[in-house]
Amino acid sequence: MTREIEFKSDITVNAIQSMGGDHMVVAAAKVSTCGNDALDFTDPERANENRGLINYLMKHRHGTPFEHAAMTFFVHAPIFVWREWHRHRIGFSYNEESGRYKTLDPIFYLPKYGRPMMKVEGWKPGRPKFLKCEDDDIHVSLEDNLRRSYKISYEMYERNLELGVDPGLARACLPVGIYSGCWVTCNPRSLMAFLSLRTHEPNATAVSYPLHEMELAARACEETLEVGYPLTYQAFNANGRVAP
Ligand SMILES: Cc1cc2nc3c(=O)[nH]c(=O)nc-3n(C[C@H](O)[C@H](O)[C@H](O)COP(=O)(O)OP(=O)(O)OC[C@H]3O[C@@H](n4cnc5c(N)ncnc54)[C@H](O)[C@@H]3O)c2cc1C
Repeated sequence: MTREIEFKSDITVNAIQSMGGDHMVVAAAKVSTCGNDALDFTDPERANENRGLINYLMKHRHGTPFEHAAMTFFVHAPIFVWREWHRHRIGFSYNEESGRYKTLDPIFYLPKYGRPMMKVEGWKPGRPKFLKCEDDDIHVSLEDNLRRSYKISYEMYERNLELGVDPGLARACLPVGIYSGCWVTCNPRSLMAFLSLRTHEPNATAVSYPLHEMELAARACEETLEVGYPLTYQAFNANGRVAP
């Protein structure tokens, strides 16, 4: 059976749909003081005149008005990224391909040259910092180790499938570098909570040190927030990237 192994070095984030916008943040907040007249604020043209309100909501962490919108992504990422992403439970919906009902494709992750990976002097957990690898031999060895283990793992997976056993058991030999596809839907509030933890911004109120590949995915999602919800995005940055 032996299928050809494919290698990928990127995380593919396809923005599929985006519903709502800054105007819905305003409209949601305005019901508090305007009742039915809050409907007048659903006009996207009126968002800009209320940028101060959006900033106020962000600054004082009035978060619920940021929940009346949605973004959907289709993401192709290695399992080690999904292990981290799926920890975000609140305001996130997921549907992932199954290792029980389909044969997993032989697509595996290899880091690009230049991926920061060498521990800095005095490296410590909690603030893990890495430098780019200046030694080509290290990168070549890492890549070789990964390629070899991916190949043997996938061969064993195929052999397990040939035994006719439960595919959910046959996959036990596969490594976390294998890719998986997943739908992700979230709202601006939950996305900002995700971005605050999964991006590294030295000027953020709480500086996070995310996994490089996790940050690549988060940054791709961040673009959708920036484009679809520009006032919200500006307020998020202006207030230290603290999710409301
Ligand atoms: C740099 C970094 C390193 C990490 N290292 C580890 C690690 O070594 N081991 C590990 O296990 N995890 C680790 N994590 C994962 C982390 O502990 C969280 O699981 C993950 O960041 C999701 O955050 P969250 O719970 O705030 O998100 P969500 O689950 O989306 O929750 C969002 C918010 O809802 C509220 N909330 C959700 N559930 C509850 C609850 N049960 N009770 C009360 N309030 C709730 C909280 O305010 C929470 O912030 C790491 C995360 C980062 C960013």
